[in-house]
Amino acid sequence: MKITRAVLLTSGIFATLLTLLQAEEGMIPVTQLSEFDLKSRGLEMSTTEVFDAGKVCLVDGICRVNGCTGSFVSPEGLILTNHHCAHKAIQSLSSAEHDYLTNGFMAASKAQELHAKGYTVRITESFSDVSEQVLSAATADMDFVARTKAMELRRKELEKQAETDNPGLRAEVAEMFSGRTYVLFLYTYLKDVRLVFAPPASIGEFGGEVDNWEWPRHTGDFSFMRAYTAPDGSAAEYSERNVPYRPRRVLKVQPDGVNESDFVMLLGYPGRTVRQRTASFLKYEQGVRLPYVVDTNAWEIKTLEEAGLEDRAVAIRLANRIKSLANVEKRSRGQLLGLGRTNVEQAKITEEMQFQAWIDSDEQRKAQAGSLLGDIDEVYTEISGAASFELPLQSLRSSCQCVSLAFQIFDAAVERQKPDLQRETAYMDRNFELTSQQMLLAVQDLHLPVDQKIYAEFTRRLAESPATPSSSIAAIPGVADNSQQAVERLFAQTQLTNPDFVRKCLSMSPEQLQGLNEPFLMLVETMYPEYMKLRETDKRRDGQLTQLYGPFLELKRQYQNSAFIPDANGTLRLTTGHIRGDSPRDGIRRVPVTTVRGVIEKTTGNEPFVTPDIVMQKAKNRDTTGFRHPQLGDVPVAILYDTDTTGGNSGSPVMNSRGELVGLNFDRTFEATINDFAWNPDYSRSIGVDIRYILWITGPVYGSNHLLNEMGVGVP
Ligand code: ASP
Repeated sequence: MKITRAVLLTSGIFATLLTLLQAEEGMIPVTQLSEFDLKSRGLEMSTTEVFDAGKVCLVDGICRVNGCTGSFVSPEGLILTNHHCAHKAIQSLSSAEHDYLTNGFMAASKAQELHAKGYTVRITESFSDVSEQVLSAATADMDFVARTKAMELRRKELEKQAETDNPGLRAEVAEMFSGRTYVLFLYTYLKDVRLVFAPPASIGEFGGEVDNWEWPRHTGDFSFMRAYTAPDGSAAEYSERNVPYRPRRVLKVQPDGVNESDFVMLLGYPGRTVRQRTASFLKYEQGVRLPYVVDTNAWEIKTLEEAGLEDRAVAIRLANRIKSLANVEKRSRGQLLGLGRTNVEQAKITEEMQFQAWIDSDEQRKAQAGSLLGDIDEVYTEISGAASFELPLQSLRSSCQCVSLAFQIFDAAVERQKPDLQRETAYMDRNFELTSQQMLLAVQDLHLPVDQKIYAEFTRRLAESPATPSSSIAAIPGVADNSQQAVERLFAQTQLTNPDFVRKCLSMSPEQLQGLNEPFLMLVETMYPEYMKLRETDKRRDGQLTQLYGPFLELKRQYQNSAFIPDANGTLRLTTGHIRGDSPRDGIRRVPVTTVRGVIEKTTGNEPFVTPDIVMQKAKNRDTTGFRHPQLGDVPVAILYDTDTTGGNSGSPVMNSRGELVGLNFDRTFEATINDFAWNPDYSRSIGVDIRYILWITGPVYGSNHLLNEMGVGVP
């Protein structure tokens, strides 16, 4: 029988019913794998086959690539990750003459692979619980700032000790449950990463922001990178002498892919979820922070896009920032929609009322914890009240590149005079090289006319905020009355566009910087006390929240009488689910696989729906042998599944029950963006590129058959 889409859809309904019961919340920390019955979840692997410190296991084939995930797909350190994860590298290696964003990048041999500056790769080696050590650093007599600082220092000491005991490895203490559980992770940490293959943006970003966070999807969001080491195998900075890294485990690339209702699992490094926070936090997010992000990001995107309209070189320089801003803007809109539609806040309020009643029902518990929820609420009320000043103050420093660079230069000078462990993390010896590299990339992309507009926008917001104190901030150009000319002078006289100047500044003391008469450095010096106040305020709130959330979570665990999974925090997690459609609105049911036919249908020839001629031709000629879905008769492009993911899971391998790679995770649906706040099997859906599309585009379409061979995939 020839199975059609309709049959697939009907059978899908049964499959959906079957799997409804099986979809489970949970980014299971690698530290808690043994608490779960992985076989009953659908894995054909034991816990120790997934992770076993010191032994070869599946986790050895997974890496973190900056804020994303990747997997090793060849014995020579070849990494498969998303196009959007390699985007910063593709963008900063591009110019109007070598426009790798538009045309793609294909290294014909290793010698042609290009250094991806600012990229690092880490692989989880082992972990140990250090909660006792971290928590004991804070003593009862300390105020909140002192608590935060003491715990930060203890974490750095533990990391340093672990790195001394394990030469060559990188140590990182992660907070699993605020104020309760801390785990020290050891990582292999590689610092020479290169770009190997990126499809043109018309494939890697097909559909652009129109399709971002949407299903059905037809984006080939993938690229290949490679990790390198010194010839002796040790981690080393970029050098021509370096050789490809030899991973202990390579994921088997499974060109047979998956089918509707099949089991899938992902390993990856999800960044942040906030499901354990209280209703008062949600109120702040829904009422204050998310609307601010939507508003300011939309304005900034428009400003940056306009600047690039007439000049491709400028557009390239701004491309990565636009992409990140747009990604967050649309995600925040999705979250606002979800918060409104699902009424998560109200559900939390009800739950917390019951929880409070339970606390109050026991005199001793009431005496110890009766005010916990109210105290947490007070912190968020304070944060909300200060937001109209603090948010634009932070944006001025992060969005205006001149302020950002000047601040980091000045801050580095101040911090680097302190002993290493006392410094802010970015300026510690172990991180400063990377911080400097990232700053120099920002210099390369600096565009003064746009930066001046951004400066004007955020200083205007500061001037208009009733919460802005009459401190040094009130006197800076843009905030002070009639200071337009002073703003123009800042931008006319700045030297921050010169990389040599910035590099020199990075080794100077605050006094030496003062002697340079650089206008933004002088400006930042004026503002520095205010930024330091903000830093201290953040540490105080952090200290307060840590002290409150610790007992809150412990009591909640007792109240619910079940173990719960910590929020995502950038550490390695496993999640399981099934290929599964969804029903986002009344009357709509969507199938979980798209095909090249859909790419052609969507192609209008206008951005963002342009498809390269070569793809159109191959599709028209049905030159797809070896990569077709057996039932659909076409190359599958994207897949939808009900695992539990968030940002940072970008680039995670989608694997079958045996740990073979069948797809590449890159997104969630618009409705699923809310799962950062609350998970639900009805709306939580993640999106991946089907492995067959990746292989078809890489090999037959763009002629990089050597990569298919390297991955051990036969070229048809
Ligand atoms: N595309 C997303 C991101 O990079 C991945 C996700 O959040 O699910 O933010």
